[in-house]
Amino acid sequence: MAYDPDNIFARILRGEADAHLVLNEEHCMAFMDVMPQSPGHTLVIPRQPAEDIFELGAESLNHLVAATRRVAQAVRTAFNPGGVMVMQLNGADAGQTVFHIHFHVIPRYAGEGLTLHARSMADARQLDEHAAKIRAALPAP
Ligand code: AMP
Repeated sequence: MAYDPDNIFARILRGEADAHLVLNEEHCMAFMDVMPQSPGHTLVIPRQPAEDIFELGAESLNHLVAATRRVAQAVRTAFNPGGVMVMQLNGADAGQTVFHIHFHVIPRYAGEGLTLHARSMADARQLDEHAAKIRAALPAP
């Protein structure tokens, strides 16, 4: 499948669609997942257009992994969860629904399951609060 330049994350990158931003840098962007599987669920994407991990250039992948770790550190500081899940899906059969590569950063708590993937919209004001809390905890590159 060819990369669709009008996918929602490409539109967020171009500023054509809104996002609750956590990080906006030369190589990567991070924002709140609007249908979080746990409060604080954040997505990290490269600026380079690529559908999945197989299409992304090695240098962009390195930047993406480094940014993902910083976001995971910030989510850990901001929410103090028992653990942090980092997840990345490739292809519809793996559950991918947006075809611009992204890492999910999801706070996890003992005994608490995840809500369903990409199902119910969170309150926009709460997402703004969560984004601000994570931004405040973001380590330097
Ligand atoms: P995946 O299924 O791995 O492709 O993940 C796509 C994620 O993007 C899902 O968790 C959705 O909840 C999330 N999502 C879809 N549209 C938006 C959007 N406009 N802003 C933020 N997150 C979104």
